[in-house]
Formats: sequence, structure tokens, C-alpha cells
Amino acid sequence: MAEIEREAMEYDVVIVGAGPAGLSAAIRLKQLDADLNVVVLEKGSEVGAHILSGAVLDPCGLDALIPDWKEKGAPLNVPVREDNFYMLGEAGQLRIPNWPMPPLMNNHGNYIVSMGNVCRWMAEQAEALGVEIFPGMACSELVYGDNGEVKGVVAGVFGLEPDGSYGPNTEPGMELHGKYVFLSEGVRGSLSKEVIAKYDLQAGKEPQKYGIGMKEIWEIDPAKHKEGSVTHTMGWPLGGNAGGGSFIYHLENNQVYVGFVVHLNYKNPHLFPYMEFQRFKHHPMVADLLKGGKRVAYGARAITEGGYQSMPKLVAPGVALLGCSAGMVNVPRIKGNHNAMLSGKAAAEAAFEAIKAGRGGDELTDYETEVRNGAIGADLKKVRNVKPMWSKWGLTASLALGGLDMWTNTLGFSLFGTLGHGKTDAEATEEASKHQPIDYPKPDGTLSFDRLTNVAFSFTNHEESQPCHLKLADPEIPVKVNLPKYDEPAQRYCPAGVYEIVRDEDQPRFVINFQNCVHCKTCDIKDPSQNINWTTPQGGDGPNYPNM
Ligand SMILES: Cc1cc2nc3c(=O)[nH]c(=O)nc-3n(C[C@H](O)[C@H](O)[C@H](O)COP(=O)(O)OP(=O)(O)OC[C@H]3O[C@@H](n4cnc5c(N)ncnc54)[C@H](O)[C@@H]3O)c2cc1C
Repeated sequence: MAEIEREAMEYDVVIVGAGPAGLSAAIRLKQLDADLNVVVLEKGSEVGAHILSGAVLDPCGLDALIPDWKEKGAPLNVPVREDNFYMLGEAGQLRIPNWPMPPLMNNHGNYIVSMGNVCRWMAEQAEALGVEIFPGMACSELVYGDNGEVKGVVAGVFGLEPDGSYGPNTEPGMELHGKYVFLSEGVRGSLSKEVIAKYDLQAGKEPQKYGIGMKEIWEIDPAKHKEGSVTHTMGWPLGGNAGGGSFIYHLENNQVYVGFVVHLNYKNPHLFPYMEFQRFKHHPMVADLLKGGKRVAYGARAITEGGYQSMPKLVAPGVALLGCSAGMVNVPRIKGNHNAMLSGKAAAEAAFEAIKAGRGGDELTDYETEVRNGAIGADLKKVRNVKPMWSKWGLTASLALGGLDMWTNTLGFSLFGTLGHGKTDAEATEEASKHQPIDYPKPDGTLSFDRLTNVAFSFTNHEESQPCHLKLADPEIPVKVNLPKYDEPAQRYCPAGVYEIVRDEDQPRFVINFQNCVHCKTCDIKDPSQNINWTTPQGGDGPNYPNM
């Protein structure tokens, strides 16, 4: 095939991903120097389309970036008014009092927001400062310079033939070059994964850990709605099968975000995270709240859980990892948006100084130092042992010891040092023969729904004639290895029903319904054979999370 010719555009900084990290970086760069050329590329059809809305936002990141955000109309309208923690049993619940909780767990001063809307508002602020934002532009490749540095990305490839070749309708996209490239792709970014491997950025760190988070938006009976109420639960239905828990946030307009996170280090390959979420809604406390209401949206996304000890080195020549591309979630708080914003600000400040000094294509070491020694490092360090304690010793021990450790860390010391995570989530999966299958009740269509019905509420769309973006390193592995050994867990861990084992006259066949993919990245993380590589489909495809 003839060499592909692409136009190239030159920028000071090229930013991949219009989430809170990427948009904060763009805003800060233009605040520091209005003449810098900054571009943000986003694979969603619009800014916010791939942001799994519905969060409790700690405004410290926004305070640092845009101190007058209130006057500028940021959509932070619902302050948290009450914070509830429950331990669930199958038929009842036990309220955990707030007083023994370390202060960092307090949500007072935080806001229940639609992060999609916060990002849409941030994009408006960025554009007003002169940032160029291109939604519907997936960055599919990195471009390397002569000295092995990252010098740009390829974005905007459309219309590939189903086998991946170029056809008459293929648009080859363009190269966008920058003195620095910021990867703010969020959890398990496809280009970030390449950079981490190429420059060995995970060396000497613990493996990154993940959870799968699923979320529904419900409109409920106004009589049951309590604007500003935040509830977290643990325990049932997961019990000892996996770590995780739920969240229920009451925002405005009688809407509630109902979500469920399952830690992906579960051992039993029969576990079905999506069905755990559906079952959870039948708990009497949750069912009472939702009865008479309707589910208006659904989505799923992996969440980084490795924390402080799993953050890779953040910089390599010409490139920096921002936000959840590097994993900056504070796990017990289930919060990462504030750190994503702070990391964007820090990366922008380091790049601004470097560009002013005539540099480019080198390592932004000041950014790394600021993240590790500044507010982000302090936030993550205090909670670094909660996840490894939960994985090693279970929920009850982690509540007691994790609570103690968060308290002592607040005072500046830990009795446990820094605990490791050990295995990756893929390695944690054990053979199916060692575990009992789990019998999940059928969804009732009122409180609980089957996957495909729910996927319709993520408004996901993929151009069908393009190549499948979920690449198998070896197409034989699902049926030859994963099926006999693990009962092919892709059938269950995918929250969108992308993967199926179909039997034609008893011959099993692995089917990938890539059109359903909600870009959560769980397959790339949890496949026990590490055989699935999530690559980006063409821009504009994927979920279209609604503006609410
Ligand atoms: C279920 C769940 C609940 C959560 N709840 C909370 C909460 O209550 N509070 C909180 O603070 N945090 C919460 N988080 C964590 C929070 O969502 C993340 O910390 C945050 O989104 C990280 O921001 P980011 O900018 O790094 O990445 P993201 O927000 O994921 O943004 C990345 C953007 O980059 C785009 N992108 C990715 N790859 C490419 C590419 N190759 N080309 C072009 N565009 C690309 C994506 O489409 C996306 O728009 C939650 C996470 C989950 C999964």
C-alpha cells in the first residue's frame, strides 16, 4: 500500500481528551499565555458525550483553576446536604454513623453535579480563551519524532474498510504536532497504554487496579426525592465475592444517580458485575426509593483504584499523562475529578515554563514533582492502604484498619507503611472449576433491566461498516483457552453485552458486538489472557450520554 499522506498542523500543546483533566490543562495554558496555540481532541460526538455523568465533586480543583466559577455560571447547583453510609444485608441495612469517619470522607462543601455538564461549561470557558476544541476526533495513533520523543497524534481517520484497509471513502485524518502532547484520555487510555509500555513508565510501581462502575439516572417520585442527599452502601449483594459498593446521589429535578462499582480483582469468573448492580436495586431500601420512578439513562466506565502506589511515571519525552490516564482516583472517597483538574493545571504550568524557556519534546519533570509532592500526592497518600487492605483482608477488616490508617495518615503517619496490590486484575481471575456459578434473578423490567435494554439508554452508536475496534491478539484464545478455563468471563464482565459465545450445532464461536461498546475499557483490563486490545473507533462513535 502506498504511504499514507497526511496534513500536519503545528501547536504548542496537543491535548487528547476533553475530560476535566484535558480541559483544565487547556484553560490554564491560555490563562498563562493567550498566545499559546492549544488544541483539544475529543472522540465523543460532543464534549461530555463520553463523560459518565453524575458525581460528587470536590470543588478544590475548580477553585484553583477558575476561582470565580460561581460568577461565571459553573453548573454546580446542588450542595451536598447529607451524607449516609450503610452496610447492607439481603433484607435490611445498618447505618454506619458519620462520627468515626476520617474528616476526608466528609462531603460537606462538595456538590452533586453532572460532570458532562461541568465539562461542557469548561469547554465554553476554554473556547472563550481561544482554545481550539475538536469533538468527534478520535486520536488513533501517536507520532514519534527523530529522537524517539512523542511529537504528536493522528486524529480524524474515518471510513476505513471493515478489514482495516483504506478504501475509496477513507479519510486519512491529520497529524497534530505539539511541543508537548498531553494524554488526558481517562482510565486505561489506548494511547496512554502505548506510552506506558514504550517508556516503561510502570517500572518500580505497583500494578494499576480498577473497578467497573455502572450508573443509571432515575426520575423518582418527588415525595421521595431529597435534593443534596448522598448515600453509599457496602455489603450485599457482593458479600465476599468481590469488593465494591453503591452510590445514590439526589441531584435536582427529582433525579437520582444510582450507581454500583465492582472491584475488578474478583477471583470467581462466574461473577456478573452488571447483574450484581441490577440485583442491588431490589434491596428493600433501594426498591422503595425507585418504585414509581423511571430509569432515563445508563452508562458504564472503569475507574482507576490503584492510587498513590500505582501511579506510573507521568512524563516521557514530549508527553505527559494527566488525570485518570495515570490513575488519580481517591478510592474511599470515589473521587478523581478534583485531581484530574489539579493535574491539568500542574501540567499546563510546567509546559508553559518549558515553552517560555525554548524547550519542547523533553520530559516535564516539574509536572511530575508537583503531582507527587503537591495536593494530589497528599490526597492520594492518606488513603493508599484502603484498597490493598480490602483486597487482602476483606471488607470488615478494611473498614476498621483502613479507617484507622486514614486517621493516622491525617495526623501524618501510618502503622502499615505502603501496602502493595500484588497481582493485576487480569491475573486475579481464577479458573472457573474452583468456583460455584452464581444464580442471578431475571430482571423484572421495572427496577432491573437486561443489558441490551439498558445499553439503548446510553444512546450508543457505532458506524457498522468500520473495522472492529476490539482487537484480539489471538482470535483462537476466547474459545480454546478462556472458555474451558474461565467459562469466557467476557460474556459477563462487559456491562454492554459486547461479547457472546454463540453455539452453532454445539460448536462454540466468540462473537464481538462492537456496536454496543460503551468505551468502559473493562475487557482490556479484565481479560485473563490479556488478549483484548481496546483501540479507539472513529470519532463521534460510542455512547452519547445525555445532557442531564
Ligand atoms: C462510576 C464512576 C463514578 C465516579 N464518581 C465520581 C465522583 O462522584 N466524584 C469524582 O470526583 N470522581 C468520580 N469518578 C472518577 C472520575 O470520573 C474520574 O476521576 C475522572 O473522570 C477523570 O477525569 P479525566 O479527565 O482524567 O478522564 P475522563 O473524565 O475519562 O475524560 C477523558 C476524555 O478523553 C476522551 N478520550 C479518551 N481517549 C481518547 C482518544 N484516544 N482520542 C480522543 N479522545 C479520547 C474520552 O472520550 C473522555 O471524554 C467516578 C468514576 C466512575 C467510573
